[in-house]
Amino acid sequence: MSEEPTFPRVFTQCPNCGSERRVAGMIAADLIEQGKASPKFGAWIFAQGSVILPDKPAFSAPRVKWAVDICYDCGTMYCIQVDVGIVMRQASPPDNRQLYRGN
Ligand SMILES: [Zn+2]
Repeated sequence: MSEEPTFPRVFTQCPNCGSERRVAGMIAADLIEQGKASPKFGAWIFAQGSVILPDKPAFSAPRVKWAVDICYDCGTMYCIQVDVGIVMRQASPPDNRQLYRGN
């Protein structure tokens, strides 16, 4: 029996060299130390995307959010956290440019 996936997943070390020093994380630590940011402040490079199911257009779709950072010691960009959820899509009005294309 396979293990049930759980989210969020957090990765605290560079998968290449094992370092815990991250570029954006170090910037955040400096800002906190200088009193320019709350101790709760974190920093990372954020991205998100939807899982595309081309045969099944829907008003909701699985969404994947992930944060990456760059290892200070070896330069590897790696995922530090990944989470999943559902994004709701709104019905959009017709695009006039498409309706009148070629006229
Ligand atoms: Zn590294």
